[in-house]
Amino acid sequence: MIYRESLGHLVEIQSLKKQETVLQEALEGEFGRISALEKRQTSSLLEIESLSKEIIDLKIKSKEHALDTLTNEQTKLKAKESMVTNEKEVLALEKSLKENQEKCLSLESELFLDLENEEALLQKIKDLKSFLIGLENSIQEISAEVQSHSAKYKIDLESVQNRITSLLALCHKDVLVLFERAQKKHPKSPLSYINGTSCKECRMVLNSVLKSSVENISAIETCPYCERILLPTTLNY
Ligand SMILES: [Zn+2]
Repeated sequence: MIYRESLGHLVEIQSLKKQETVLQEALEGEFGRISALEKRQTSSLLEIESLSKEIIDLKIKSKEHALDTLTNEQTKLKAKESMVTNEKEVLALEKSLKENQEKCLSLESELFLDLENEEALLQKIKDLKSFLIGLENSIQEISAEVQSHSAKYKIDLESVQNRITSLLALCHKDVLVLFERAQKKHPKSPLSYINGTSCKECRMVLNSVLKSSVENISAIETCPYCERILLPTTLNY
């Protein structure tokens, strides 16, 4: 029966390890809240950058300049109308005027669409900037919350881990060797009760000699199939 106490400690350790996992996940979850917001911040900044580039690529200024040049050209051509002397010159001038007029109209309508496009892009940038301001505020608020939650989880985690360490120190060394081996194979469930005539975890049938050795705690036994440490039914969780 020298192992009874050690087995009791193992049961407590297994339950503490579950708590440890829950606390570690909660801690990661807290940091995840911030990093999710920071990702949105980065993607919004990138979006603003790409929208600004789209505006530059519209080349509105140079198109406006080109339109001015065409308009001036048109004025100059019109001024020549009174100076032409023969029909050939009249026809040539009319042709130039017509061609220039067409270029003007086409560039004007292109510019009109570009300006509409620019307005929509500027609006999107404006919306994103105000979204970022809100996001920045949220990050600051949540950071304070995350810090206070994390501090609490860390304290709880430390106390669970300290308890595990002190329980391990109390276990018989034979038990520890087998527990370590079982933990390597089954990190979440290194222990198993006997259920009827079987190992509760792997459900394989155990022979009666092994079963009575476990129930009497005359030795530390492991399941020959799954290698978990077998616990007597008298040892309750
Ligand atoms: Zn088993």
